Amino acid sequence: MSEVIEVIPDRIKRVNEACKEALGEILLEKMKDPRIGFVTVTSVEVTPDLRQAKVWVSMMGSEEEVETAMGVLEKATGFLRKELGQRVRMRYTPELKIILDHGPEVSERVQGILHELEEEDISELGSVISALMKAEAIGISSHENPDGDSVGSLLGLAMVLNRAGKRVFPCMPEPWKYPPQYAFLPGRELLVDPDEMEGGLELFVALDCSNPERLGPLQDKAASAAMLLNIDHHEDNQLYAGMNLVDAGASSTSELVYKVIKEAGWPMGPDIATCLYTGVVTDTGRFQHINTSPETFAIASELTAAGADIFQVVKEVYDNQSLAYTRLLGRVLQRIKIVEDRELAYSYITQLDLDETGAVLPETEDLIDHLRSVRGTRVVALFKELEDGKVRVSLRSRDGFEVGPIARSLGGGGHAMAAGYTSDSDVEGSIAGFVDELQGRSD
Ligand code: 5GP
Ligand code: MN
Repeated sequence: MSEVIEVIPDRIKRVNEACKEALGEILLEKMKDPRIGFVTVTSVEVTPDLRQAKVWVSMMGSEEEVETAMGVLEKATGFLRKELGQRVRMRYTPELKIILDHGPEVSERVQGILHELEEEDISELGSVISALMKAEAIGISSHENPDGDSVGSLLGLAMVLNRAGKRVFPCMPEPWKYPPQYAFLPGRELLVDPDEMEGGLELFVALDCSNPERLGPLQDKAASAAMLLNIDHHEDNQLYAGMNLVDAGASSTSELVYKVIKEAGWPMGPDIATCLYTGVVTDTGRFQHINTSPETFAIASELTAAGADIFQVVKEVYDNQSLAYTRLLGRVLQRIKIVEDRELAYSYITQLDLDETGAVLPETEDLIDHLRSVRGTRVVALFKELEDGKVRVSLRSRDGFEVGPIARSLGGGGHAMAAGYTSDSDVEGSIAGFVDELQGRSD
């Protein structure tokens, strides 16, 4: 089989790429016409004399919607050309010809998504993207006691939207509880305090929250927004928002944010990729928990290709514990108790432990993993005394035993094998209450 191979000089290739990137940005930042749902520039071909450029675009939507959007784009070519001239320095800015891309690559991509998702999910992903594209001011928050997935998805999404020219208000319900092991992540400077977030925003995005209460003090801001978008991977998600992008099969919320960014065609540099990779790595326990799938590895690979600093993530998150935390870990391991007939291992942390070691609760997120490596256990629980005397209980399980329902019956929630709740009793009472609940259940 013979094939005609066209030789494109490197210089033109670079011009094509630069124009493609610039036009993608212009469409995103400057074209607010709602008739243009979401559109991706798939390729640009500039003639060697720079007089003309063919711009291939792909979009999702009905035939009619695509036709309307193409009409709008064609009318806007003068504007696009002017903007392009300002962003890409060329001797001459080419005339633009917009062409709808029906190419095999695009239809393959659409087919791939069709295959992966139910039809309604597609429109869901599509409407999520167009809601994000249309809103000019957006609030974003993850849950209280944020973990790596919350922080990673929050900062990753905040950076993408910020770069797309939006006013973003990324926020943590308790900003003073920022977990120190994620201090290295880029984008943190974008975070605002809860009272700095405007009320009545066009759009509020709740990340990694199975119910709105998880937003803590930010619930009011979420409720006052014109549109609430819920992006999450918890199986017990209550689909509480106007728009819910919820997939319990996803390893993490960061994975879902990655899909949104990829599908929207937003540029993703190493900093965003590093945030999202952190979410994937921490929520899968370094690709070891039950939520790890072939797709998780595929996404990790794509994030690595996009420049995620995978070595820094592991170094900062796992190989960088404070001495205070390490001493606290010693205490917690020392006092592990086993309830043999329930295959339970548990331990606890008190406020006195924190005072004496100097450790802080946000850095104890992974401590529970040390308990679950004890042979012969199927359930592990870690009880953490909070400043107000209440106790946060973290639960993990394996070999088919589910702690999700137990956490829910005690007022919390989470995944089947990783869940939690807050108890109003003291440490001793919380332990007794949990053991009682466990004893009362058959396998
Ligand atoms: P962790 O033990 O790491 O705090 O939480 C484990 C999992 O359970 C996480 O996915 C977390 O979001 C969820 N989770 C923990 N506490 C609660 C809670 O009080 N309510 C709900 N709905 N989910 C929780
Ligand atoms: Mn998560």
